[in-house]
Amino acid sequence: MSKRRKLVVGNWKMHGSHPANAELLAGIIGARPFGADVAVCVPFPYLSETAVSLAGSDIRWGAQDCSAHKQGAYTGEVSATMLKEFGCRYAIVGHSERRAMHGESDALVADKAQAALAQGVTPIVCVGETLAQREAGETAAVVKRQLSAVIHALAHCAGEMVVAYEPVWAIGTGLSATPQQAQEVHQLLRAQLQAATPRAEAMTLLYGGSVKPDNAAALFAMADIDGALVGGAALKAADFVAICRAAG
Ligand code: PEP
Repeated sequence: MSKRRKLVVGNWKMHGSHPANAELLAGIIGARPFGADVAVCVPFPYLSETAVSLAGSDIRWGAQDCSAHKQGAYTGEVSATMLKEFGCRYAIVGHSERRAMHGESDALVADKAQAALAQGVTPIVCVGETLAQREAGETAAVVKRQLSAVIHALAHCAGEMVVAYEPVWAIGTGLSATPQQAQEVHQLLRAQLQAATPRAEAMTLLYGGSVKPDNAAALFAMADIDGALVGGAALKAADFVAICRAAG
């Protein structure tokens, strides 16, 4: 188990409704305290009600994306300044669903991370290989390339981001990476960060990909796994709370 304080982040993706959100947030709030930092990244329209529900608690909130632009004629985009106005602590950038379905490049993800950080919103930068890339032995090269773009863009602020290793083949499939497989990549990522920033040892590296109450503790026991980015299991208070407890 690492000495760094753990962080568990729920990624709601495009799920939720007023009543479902209220029930989920009440379930999380009611289960405190946790011995770990906890956050939920919600769809943009729900940021306001999430901020109201979580005000006065130690649960943080954030968004699932962030524009690379400050403002202007970018229909449909949401800027980091707006996220900050809604009290966002985090913005997920470079989620594999956005890379795959919205054609986001390493360069765009890096620009988004930079835009978020410039407004004091911590980017949670997702990296991860597809199954084909893993089978071709390309995992290390892919995640290094993805992270390298962001390190380069953030320069001396690189130590401020959170990195999430999310193997694409493990997301939403029920097939989690083994703790050893995840640790192997986390170790690589930390070494890459060490070459870039003196803060590397203190940085939070999350694992994401079918994290559930029954596999969380084993993942969190690994030296370089500092918490989780949780999709499906973040939509049920009991499951999410169990994962948060495993991190405490
Ligand atoms: C995710 O979407 O970031 C994720 C990890 O999803 P799941 O936990 O459902 O695999």
